[in-house]
Amino acid sequence: MPAAVREELNEKLPRIGQSPEAAYEDFSRLVLPYGNGNSHPRFWGWVQGSGLALGVIADMLASAMNPHMAGFNQAPRAVEEQVMSWLVELMGFPEAASGLLTSGASMANLTALATARHAKADWDIRRLGVRGGSRAMVAYCSTETHSCMERAMELMGLGSEALRLIPVDADFRMDVAALGRAVELDIKDGLLPFCVVANCGTVNTGAIDDLPAISAVARKHNLWFHVDGAFGALAMLSPKLRSRVEGLAEADSVAFDLHKWMYLPFEVGCVLVRDAVGQRATFTVSPAYLGNEQRGVIAGGLPFADRGMELTRGFKALKVWMCMKAYGVSAFAAAIEENVAQAEFLRELVGKHEELEMLAPVSLNVVCFRFARGTRPLDEVNREIIVRLQETGTAVVSSTSIGGKLAIRCAIVNHRTKRADLERFVEAVVATGKSLG
Ligand SMILES: *Cc1c(COP(=O)(O)O)cnc(C)c1O
Repeated sequence: MPAAVREELNEKLPRIGQSPEAAYEDFSRLVLPYGNGNSHPRFWGWVQGSGLALGVIADMLASAMNPHMAGFNQAPRAVEEQVMSWLVELMGFPEAASGLLTSGASMANLTALATARHAKADWDIRRLGVRGGSRAMVAYCSTETHSCMERAMELMGLGSEALRLIPVDADFRMDVAALGRAVELDIKDGLLPFCVVANCGTVNTGAIDDLPAISAVARKHNLWFHVDGAFGALAMLSPKLRSRVEGLAEADSVAFDLHKWMYLPFEVGCVLVRDAVGQRATFTVSPAYLGNEQRGVIAGGLPFADRGMELTRGFKALKVWMCMKAYGVSAFAAAIEENVAQAEFLRELVGKHEELEMLAPVSLNVVCFRFARGTRPLDEVNREIIVRLQETGTAVVSSTSIGGKLAIRCAIVNHRTKRADLERFVEAVVATGKSLG
């Protein structure tokens, strides 16, 4: 975005209207050309979805109807209930499970953790808070877990120290024996372990924890078993990939995003909870001004407000409903399978260049590698390669640190990517690396 454009965007508070045409003209000129590029076929940075065109239309229709999605007696509510039951079925959860569409996986993970905390506290935690019990609550996840979990623990008043970070093995999966030992030590110390969070696709490398083994530890110690499957859980859509995420359906709750590996426009994430009553018990309130009725507009109450923190919610269910109906699960499964095959293809391309080295195994759709030649410090070289490719508009990838080494990280959640895009990208990495000497 050129400095002159940024300058032009900096305007005084428009006290007098400039007309819709003028606003649109400014949008076209000053905003539209300068996104971060995540609808482009060569965007694999962070984990940003590529956005389906039909989702654009669905979002417009949703805004046009503008329904209040706390619930209410209306067709949009029936659409969200329908979408939830489809997602329950796709994830292999029991029919009686409940769930909620959220802004994203951060919110979905927070919602699940709050439900877990409420379920496992042996006192009235809603009324008395975390200090109402005689034992401090602790939860577990691996060192590879997304930072949203730490923020959830902080926000719930438990503190990030109460989130025990369990080490991982060489494949970046949680060391389950270490998990068992940590839980036992905390019990001995008089604490109340309440939840274990497993990763189904870590943000760094796409690693999938041993879900059945973690589930067994959770059952043994009466812990809530939550899975963060922000993108990885979507492997459940594919009969070919489902075995890689075995055990997911045993979870007490799972969080995932539809705006990542289901390619829907931002925002839409989802939390599923096996115990519908428990989710409701965590969040439901009944102030007089939201009184239920047998008939009329509020008949049936506000089921979605009862499942999370948000009262007024938008109609994000519509884009899920329309895109699933339009394309069918099979099309999403095919796109996800193709992204996994592309990650494998990229790994092979890296293997063909002796200037490049892999830094982590490819579990799903994330590839971490680096340029490893020359006399300059490699972290510096790889950081420069990433930024140059971004600035020249060649491709957008991001970085992470793997075993102390700066990695070029590609997370392929892009339905527009072709294999030729990956070939072009790898050639550019090698050429840029060499040019840096
Ligand atoms: C993206 C991501 C999150 C956070 O999801 P948002 O939709 O960005 O809130 C959490 N966990 C993992 C593994 C992720 O990849």
